[in-house]
Amino acid sequence: MSAPQTAPPLACPLPLGAHEHVVLGHGSGGRLSAELMRDIFMPAFNCPALAAQDDQAILPVEAGRIAISTDSFVVKPLFFPGGNIGELAVYGTVNDLAVGGAIPKYLSAAFILEEGLPFSTLKAVVDAMAAAARRANVEIVTGDTKVVERGSGDQIFINTTGIGVLPHRVQLGAARVEPGDAIILSGPLGDHGITILTQREGMELDGDLKSDAAPLHELCRALVEGVPGIHAMRDLTRGGLSSALNEMAATSKTGMELIEREIPVRDSVRGACELFGLDPLYVANEGKLIAFVPPEWAEAALEILRSHPVGAEARIIGSVTSAHPGRVTMRTSLGTERIVDMLAGDQLPRIC
Ligand code: MG
Repeated sequence: MSAPQTAPPLACPLPLGAHEHVVLGHGSGGRLSAELMRDIFMPAFNCPALAAQDDQAILPVEAGRIAISTDSFVVKPLFFPGGNIGELAVYGTVNDLAVGGAIPKYLSAAFILEEGLPFSTLKAVVDAMAAAARRANVEIVTGDTKVVERGSGDQIFINTTGIGVLPHRVQLGAARVEPGDAIILSGPLGDHGITILTQREGMELDGDLKSDAAPLHELCRALVEGVPGIHAMRDLTRGGLSSALNEMAATSKTGMELIEREIPVRDSVRGACELFGLDPLYVANEGKLIAFVPPEWAEAALEILRSHPVGAEARIIGSVTSAHPGRVTMRTSLGTERIVDMLAGDQLPRIC
């Protein structure tokens, strides 16, 4: 007599218990998603709005206006000297809010994870984001996780959206830039881009070269409060100084004139740029800004920047002119004049 036919026991397609890697079920919205939330995200991003676990975060807003900005982060490698994808995901969005004169308050964080990602890596990234959020004085109040099959992603992609508040009196923007404005740069160019590039090439880093990843909210706040005449700020990320200046020249219909010998670039960055045929004016930064201030405010702005560690090496690097609207030029160290064009194409993919 054969054994009675019984239905196979209902089985979970995934092993239960402690996972060491992300599996597709972690993006299912079911129990594994809940475990991910409970074990990884909640302890790191702990705040009342997130703890409420509703479909939305409900937040108080002060009188004034809000600023909102979003960015996605796909940097490779995930960890590099001076930072990691988690810090970039927080600082990148915080800085875009701060340079508009807003006080960054809240972030969302959406993760696209590749199946097989070690939990230890995810946890390290999430913990770095939490520490970065504390440093930038923002709360991560809502988020999402999706998992894609092995080979359909590259470990971790992160999107953050940020909300900041702006007092009514603060009016900044590229359109306000005027001929005569001093152009102030908060520190040396290219540290982030060259760090990523040398990591990918497996090269030894020269001396203390590391990414400049940093939040700029304190610097921006100090400038807005200490320099009432300030016209605009911009953080320098992909496309470097040249792209930011070209965009602002086009928007404000002014010309920009740089003085090459005043533009700070570390020797190690300059050396690597020569090796790879790159121009530091086009290399990415993750903790630098430019500020446009009327000439009578230039020294005060410089002093404010230099009194903060993130702006200690600030310099006046040029001025705004009515001479050639929409164009950026540079007086070179050789005494010649050159046009500084917009970056054409992508110098280095997945830099942030
Ligand atoms: Mg920006």
